[in-house]
Amino acid sequence: MLYEINEKALKLESEGRKIIRLNLGDPDMATPPEIVEAAYAAMKAGKTKYSSSYGEKKLREKIAEIHGVKAENVVITPGSKWGVFATMFLMLKGGGNVIVPTPYWTAYELIAKTLGAQTKLLRTELEDDWKVDLDKLEGMIDKDTRMIILNNPNNPTSKVMDEETLDGIVEIATKRGVTILSDEVYGAIAFTKTKSILEYDGDCKHILSNGFSKTFTMTGWRIGYIIANKLLVDNITKLNQITVNNVPVFIQEAALKGLELREKISSAIKLEYEERAKMASKTLAKAGLSFSQPDAPFYVFPKRPGLDSEKFTLDLLDKGVAVAPGTSFGDYREHFRISLTAPREEIKVALDKISEALG
Ligand code: PMP
Repeated sequence: MLYEINEKALKLESEGRKIIRLNLGDPDMATPPEIVEAAYAAMKAGKTKYSSSYGEKKLREKIAEIHGVKAENVVITPGSKWGVFATMFLMLKGGGNVIVPTPYWTAYELIAKTLGAQTKLLRTELEDDWKVDLDKLEGMIDKDTRMIILNNPNNPTSKVMDEETLDGIVEIATKRGVTILSDEVYGAIAFTKTKSILEYDGDCKHILSNGFSKTFTMTGWRIGYIIANKLLVDNITKLNQITVNNVPVFIQEAALKGLELREKISSAIKLEYEERAKMASKTLAKAGLSFSQPDAPFYVFPKRPGLDSEKFTLDLLDKGVAVAPGTSFGDYREHFRISLTAPREEIKVALDKISEALG
C-alpha cells in the first residue's frame, strides 16, 4: 500500500494536481552544499575509477573514530538498505528465523521472505509507549532464531528505545546466543540521546547499520555502512565484489566531508525537524489523535480508534495530502504515518486537511 499510494500521488501530480507528499522518508531539504562541492572536487580530481570493495580507508577510519571501533570493522555499502540486505543474506542463508518488533520498516520482512527465512513479529503498542515486552521476546527465541532486528530510533513511531529495555534485549540476546542487527539510521539526528548497540560490546558481536541518507539529506546518493565483526565485514565485502564493487569514490569523499562537518549539519537538521514535530504534535493533539511525541525525525504515527487507515489514506489523497497507512508497518490499521518531510507551510496546510478529514 505504501508504494501504491506513492504511485497514485505521482499520477495525480502528473495530471496537474497539487499533492503535499508526506508519505515517504525522503527529506525535502537539499544536500548541504559543502557535500555537493566535495563530490564535484573529487570527480574533477579523477576519482572516478573502481576502488576497494571495503570502502575508502579514510572514510572507514573516520567512521571507526566516531563509533569507537577499528576501521577493519567497517564496510561501506551502497545505502544502508543494501547493508541490511547483505547482512540478512549472510545471516539467514538457508533459513532460520528473525525476530522483528513492530511497527517496523517493511523491508526487514520483505528481505527475510526473499531469503526464505521466517519473520517472527513482536507486537508493541502505543498504549505501552511502544515498549518491547522482554518476556515475550525471550519466549519467541527458538533453536532456529538467528537474529533480532532493532530499529532505534524507530520508523514509523520516531520512538527512541529506553535504555532499560535495550539493556534487557541485549542481555537476552547475548545469553541466548542471538545476534542483534541494530538499524540506527535516525540515531545521529535524534532529539534525545540514542544508546547505540556498539556501546554494549567493543568486539562487535552485534551489528550496527547506519547511513548518510537521513543525517545529511543524501537519500539519492546511496551510501551507508555496516559495523560488525571482521568475518562479517569480509563477507559483505565479497558480496560487494560480485555485485556493486564499490560505492563511487567521489560519493565516499562527499560523505567524508559530511562527517567532518557533522556537528554543524546535524544540529541544523535536528532543529528544523524538532520545530516541525512540535507544530505537528500541537495540531494532531487538537484533532483528538493519540500518538507518542517524536524523539527523532521524521515521523509521527498517530492513532484514532476505529480508523480504517487504508480508506482514510486514499480519501486524504483525493484531498491533496499523501500519508502512509498504518498497515504498511504491520497490523496497525488504526494508525497512519505522517512524514514531516516538506516545508513548514506545506505541513501546516496538510495538518489542517488531516484534521478536517478526521471530522
Ligand atoms: N532503515 C530505515 C529504518 C529506514 O527508514 C530507511 C529509509 N526509509 C533505511 C534504513 C534506508 O536508508 P538508506 O537510504 O541508507 O538505504
